[in-house]
Amino acid sequence: MVDFMDTKSNAKARETREFRTDSLHCPSCALQLKRRLAAVQGVEDVEVSLLDGKVRIVYDPAGIGPSDLERALSNIGGQISHVEEEEPHHHADERLTAAAGLFLAGGAAAYLSGDVIFAPVGGIAVPLSGLLFGLGAALGGFPVLKRAWSELKRRLLGIDLLVSIAITGALALGESFEAAALVFLFGVAEWLEERAAARARRSIRDLLDRAPKRVTVIRGEREVELPVEAVTPGEVILVRPGETIGLDGVVVRGRSSVSEAAITGESTPVTKKEGDTVYAGTLVEDGSLEIKVSRPAGESTLARIAALVEEAQHKKAPVERFVDRFSRYYTPTVVGIAVLVALVPSLLGLSPREWIFRALMLLVIACPCALAISTPVAMVSALVSAAKRGILVKGAAALEAVAGIGFLALDKTGTLTTGELRAEVVALDGLGPREILRIAAALERGSEHPIARAIRKLAADEDFLPPVEGFRALPGLGVKGQIGGEEYVVGRPELFRELPILVENLLSQGQSLVLVGKRGRPLGAILLSDELRPEAEGALEALRKLGVEPVLLTGDRAPVAQRVAAALGIREVHAELLPEEKLSLVEELKKRGGVAFVGDGINDAPALAAADVGIAMGDIGTDVAIEAGDVALMRDDLRGVPELVALGRRALRVVRANIALSLALKLVVAGFAFAGLASLALAVLIGDVGATLLVTGNAMRLQRSVLEPKIQEV
Ligand code: ADP
Ligand code: MG
Repeated sequence: MVDFMDTKSNAKARETREFRTDSLHCPSCALQLKRRLAAVQGVEDVEVSLLDGKVRIVYDPAGIGPSDLERALSNIGGQISHVEEEEPHHHADERLTAAAGLFLAGGAAAYLSGDVIFAPVGGIAVPLSGLLFGLGAALGGFPVLKRAWSELKRRLLGIDLLVSIAITGALALGESFEAAALVFLFGVAEWLEERAAARARRSIRDLLDRAPKRVTVIRGEREVELPVEAVTPGEVILVRPGETIGLDGVVVRGRSSVSEAAITGESTPVTKKEGDTVYAGTLVEDGSLEIKVSRPAGESTLARIAALVEEAQHKKAPVERFVDRFSRYYTPTVVGIAVLVALVPSLLGLSPREWIFRALMLLVIACPCALAISTPVAMVSALVSAAKRGILVKGAAALEAVAGIGFLALDKTGTLTTGELRAEVVALDGLGPREILRIAAALERGSEHPIARAIRKLAADEDFLPPVEGFRALPGLGVKGQIGGEEYVVGRPELFRELPILVENLLSQGQSLVLVGKRGRPLGAILLSDELRPEAEGALEALRKLGVEPVLLTGDRAPVAQRVAAALGIREVHAELLPEEKLSLVEELKKRGGVAFVGDGINDAPALAAADVGIAMGDIGTDVAIEAGDVALMRDDLRGVPELVALGRRALRVVRANIALSLALKLVVAGFAFAGLASLALAVLIGDVGATLLVTGNAMRLQRSVLEPKIQEV
């Protein structure tokens, strides 16, 4: 059971809990469970995940207590367990399915070799094959009937109930082969689905397994090997060449190239030396590093990435909701048709036996199992392969949204440019350049803006910066605060009343600058120059090929914006924007099509949130970079955006193909049924076993092929 406060809602205290139940192995049960739980007093939201059998309930603790909640859940969902417990694995069911398979084969062999006829009960002749088929159906059908009974008691109309009716119906009609084959193949289909779900879950866990479980800790003179969980922040670990780092930390000794591919997807190693931050899961190549651990194992960047990917599948894509909604109508509709097929022709005098058999087949067709499993499996595949490339997508919904974007709004500073600005001071009035720099750097102490960083860097040698009182950031404008009782401002020229001619000249030449001054009068200017990111042009080119139009939104001056836009071939430019204007432009763009916004995640939060997809890029490992936006690029590289768009589109294509495929197969089977070529075995074989194999295979492809260089060429 996971307990955590929902941070989004501040008005009302809502709590979230997770459980596992045994009612989540069929889509229609899941839906009914969800609907009935949502109707419980005090329950505000219910999410179910077929993939891991989890129910997540958001509830108002004032409306319902935890024990009542558990009782309500078990009344509807049957056996519940807490999420930390290992998921129960039904080996027993698998063995029964295998046994059913053996009896099926034995029966078939007996049938083909002429059969022995028994006449045991009341003189009725029973062939050996029939006996074996019947036993097979009974053995393999046992768990299905048991689950159906439990569903029935809880008034759920589930797949198990439908299949149970089909099994008993077939046996009653004397179709023992059909019954046995149905039982066996249904078991196989379930096993395949379970395996696909388990594989998807495992692929998320594999993300974590890229960091070692044990590390070498230096304790005084000794080196001890300990499990990562036993190491506390502040301790120093030793990582030798060729080893993978087990915990996040800061290098205190040594120097080495480190491959950060596990986190950023970037295979070119970076040099790490004293004072540099390193991450769990990254590979030390040629040197030894002593690392002071900064976070416990469970909070490492890698662990947080894995947790967010796990979380992401709960934020269902619209296409998944469509599948949910569809199955809600699909199953009852087909069941209704089955009832009509069983009754109407019989009433009209047609052979009841034949039509009841066709109706049983429809019951089997009514299970949209393959359809239901394929979407989450495809989404998880895509989410995991994105994470492996350093693209952290925080919701299946975001993945679908990104597939549909027509515009990419870009911030300039730090996004199209490196954000490593170079600053240069020009004195304007009275004060010397060092004085101006000191004032500016003091004021910028409180800001995370790239401009602030550049100014602080230029002032790194100054050993005395005056204290600032009443600091305030003016988002999109600058900063202000009092020094020695006087209010100073650093920021956009608009903040100042009159501009000296020198400044006017610089501005008209397209020079980026901020002014430092007081009482509306500039005392100095800080010229800023930043460089385009080397990969920006290629990334935008790739986006255009995908039909995504880049739009530049910047707070910087128009001439600077124009220069950047011209260099990169961006046609639509909006400059000198305030943060709220960026926001309204994003809203404007949304009217013309899907919009993603990519920004540095520090000062672009409103636009990130307003866009259909907010993409944050920035230094890995910082909280802002990971938490902000719907997508975080762990690699500080714009090429992640076209990769993401391509991946989202492929995922959506796979999902759509899967929906079409599984429905088409069901339709084929229904065609057989109506043509009188009814066979329960065929219905499960094509509609479930075949469909499950096809759709999950298709979904898994997403994970494999994305790792090929194909995307890079897009
Ligand atoms: P962008 O990231 O598109 O350049 P911002 O909204 O971050 O736009 O900033 C717009 C402008 O506001 C900057 O170009 C700069 O002139 C000014 N500004 C913002 N923050 C600061 C700051 N901390 N110090 C000085 N100037 C700032
Ligand atoms: Mg910015």
